[in-house]
Amino acid sequence: MRPGAANVLVCPHCRQWLRCQAIDLHNRFDAEVWSDLRVVDTFWHTPADMVACTNCHQPFLRSQAERAGVLPSSIDELDFRIEDDGWHLLPRFGKSRELALLERYLSAPVLTLLSLEAVEAALPAARADAEIDLRLQCLRHHNDVRRHGHGEPWERLAPRFHANTERLLAILSPHDEFHQLMAAEILREYGEFHAAMQRLSCVQHVHGHEKAALMGWIIERRTELMPF
Ligand SMILES: [Zn+2]
Repeated sequence: MRPGAANVLVCPHCRQWLRCQAIDLHNRFDAEVWSDLRVVDTFWHTPADMVACTNCHQPFLRSQAERAGVLPSSIDELDFRIEDDGWHLLPRFGKSRELALLERYLSAPVLTLLSLEAVEAALPAARADAEIDLRLQCLRHHNDVRRHGHGEPWERLAPRFHANTERLLAILSPHDEFHQLMAAEILREYGEFHAAMQRLSCVQHVHGHEKAALMGWIIERRTELMPF
């Protein structure tokens, strides 16, 4: 595992400390990020708000969870030196409370992302903002079947894919640039290129890299899932 900035969150149900390795799209290192923002990486996770505790398995919202701290973003920030008998943290951390804290951060299990079944189970009780997050997670799970070519047969999944994307297009906020980026991606996957381009015109201040890539694929009239 490579080091990276990771928030350490507290499970609101059982108080377990959990490491969150959701990728920051502005600083994605070499992670594979797809057009529906699925992240395929051994360290970084797809950003999702509704997640589950690895200890008690209860779902909770990442954005509302208490934060215990942040792991250093690179090995340099750890301030260590390597000697004959292994590596030593420098005095900034050595023998101090911070070292114990760092060890507790590092030993915290990584939080659990919801499976498609868990997402579908959470949907009926979800409030408006949670519904959008859950439906975007649903979209990526459905797309995974096409992306990786395994899992449930597409013919069986297609009606759920259509129902989910139809609802998403209706509830994604016209005032939220991230929502409009995702709406453009859904419309592109359907081959509705003009409508996709209209949605992209609402994306002005963030996600410039993703917007440019999507525009290129729309101009090329491509509907398949694409890695950025
Ligand atoms: Zn828990």
